[in-house]
Amino acid sequence: MRRAVVAWGVVPWFVCGATALLTGVGQTQAAESAIRAGVAVADITPPIGYRMSGYFSERPSTGTHDPLQAKAIVWRQGDEQAALVVCDLCAVYAAVTEPARTRAQQKTGIPASHILIAATHSHTGPLYFNALREHFHNKAVAKGGSDPCEMVDYPAQLTDRLVQVIANAQAAARPVRIDCGTAEQQNLSFNRRFHMKDGSVRCNPGSRNPNIVRPAGPIDPQVGVVLVRDAADNRPVASLAVFALHLDTTGGTLYSADYPYYLEQALRQSLGDRLVSVFANGACGDINHFDVTGRQTLKTQYIGETLAAAVKAGLPGLNPVTRPQLAVRSEVAQLPLRTYTPDEVALAEKAMDTLGTGEKPAMDLVKAYEIMNFKWRKSDELAALVQAIRLGDDTALVGLPGEVFVELGLAIKQASPFANTMVIELSQDCPDYVPTRKAFAEGSYETVCSCVEPGGGEMLVASAVRLLKQLKP
Ligand SMILES: [Zn+2]
Repeated sequence: MRRAVVAWGVVPWFVCGATALLTGVGQTQAAESAIRAGVAVADITPPIGYRMSGYFSERPSTGTHDPLQAKAIVWRQGDEQAALVVCDLCAVYAAVTEPARTRAQQKTGIPASHILIAATHSHTGPLYFNALREHFHNKAVAKGGSDPCEMVDYPAQLTDRLVQVIANAQAAARPVRIDCGTAEQQNLSFNRRFHMKDGSVRCNPGSRNPNIVRPAGPIDPQVGVVLVRDAADNRPVASLAVFALHLDTTGGTLYSADYPYYLEQALRQSLGDRLVSVFANGACGDINHFDVTGRQTLKTQYIGETLAAAVKAGLPGLNPVTRPQLAVRSEVAQLPLRTYTPDEVALAEKAMDTLGTGEKPAMDLVKAYEIMNFKWRKSDELAALVQAIRLGDDTALVGLPGEVFVELGLAIKQASPFANTMVIELSQDCPDYVPTRKAFAEGSYETVCSCVEPGGGEMLVASAVRLLKQLKP
C-alpha cells in the first residue's frame, strides 16, 4: 500500500558531518589499543503534512520547530567496531532497522549486530509504522485513492539515512578520549502509575487527585554520561546522555526533537557549538514529567536545560576510560506476543472506525489498536534483539526494544557487573509498552497498550544481564 519512492523534494536531508568537523586536525599516531570514534548527524525531518505519531488521533504536521535528526557515534578499537544511532522518532521498527543494519554492515564492515539503533520517543515526529498508521493510511486511500499525508516513502528514506549516517560517523573516526560516569537528576521525572484509594492502579490520575495513595513504582534519577573528546586537542566532540523520562512534553503539530533539542543547545553553551549531543532514553515506560502534587508544571525547555545542568554538574566526576575495551555481545530473545481470535480482530477493526468520534471509551480504542497491531505484526512472537556494548572496565550500554518499565531497567543496572550501565530503550523495534509482571497484574494503560505477554520484560532483563556478564565475567 505504500507509495513508490519519490525524491524528498523541498525538504533538505543534509548530512552534517562530523567528517567536516574532524578533518584537518593534527594527526595523532594511535597505539593499536587506542580507541577511535566518529560522530555524524542526518536530518530525518519528513515533509510538512506528513502524519505525526504519539496520539490516537490523526495529526498531520504543519511545520518544524526544530529538525528531527538521527545522530550516530561509531567506536573503533583494533578490529572491533560498534555504532550507536539515536533518532528523533517516537519509535523505530525492525522493518527499518534490520535492512539499515544489514546495508550499513555491507558499506562499513561494522557487524549488523554491533549497530544499536534507537528512538528517543519524540511524540512530535512522523507516524510511519504500526496499526494506527495502517488505519489512517487505508482510510485515506479508500477515500481519495491515495494518501495525501504520505507524499514520500518515509521508511525507505529513513533506512537510507541511517545507513549513510553510520558510514559518515565511521569515516569521521579518529583517536579520542572517553570519559564515562553518571550524574543525578531528581524532581524532573515521576513514576506515572499510582495506587488509588479504590485499590486500583491508574496511569496519570491527574494533578492533586485526592484519591491518590502513593506511586506504584520508582523512578531512575541516574543520568548516564559519556563524553567523547578529540585526543589531539581535547575538544568535546560528542556527548551521550541516557535518562529515563518520556518525551511527550511538546505536543502540537510542529516537528520537534522535544527536550533533547534544548539539552543540546544548553550543552553547546559550555562544551562548544560543534558538540553533537546524543540523547538516548532510559527505561521510562512508566515515567513522565507530570508532578501530580501540582507544585510545578514542567515545560520542554526547562526539562532540557535542567538535564543539561545535571550533565554539566556531573562532568568533573566522570572517569576517563584509561583502558578502552570495546566489545559487543547480542542475543535474540523470543518474546511471546499476545494473540487474538479472528472475531476479536473483526471487532477491533470496527472499533478503530470510531476513532475520533468519542463513541467508545479511550481504553477500548487502545485495546483495539493493540489487537490490530497483532494483525499487523502477523506473528505470535517477537525476535527481540538485545545488545550490550562495552566501552571500558566500568561502562557498558544496553539496548532493548519497546517502552521498557523503569523497574526492568533498574533490575539490569543492579545485576550488572559494570558500575556504569546505561540501559537504552526503544532500540531496534517497538512492541509498545514492556511492563513488569507486577504491573500486568495491576493493569491500567501501559498493560493494555502492549504487544507482549506478561514475562516478556523479565526475559529482556535476563538476556541483558547474561550479555553484560559475558562482557565482564
Ligand atoms: Zn510512550
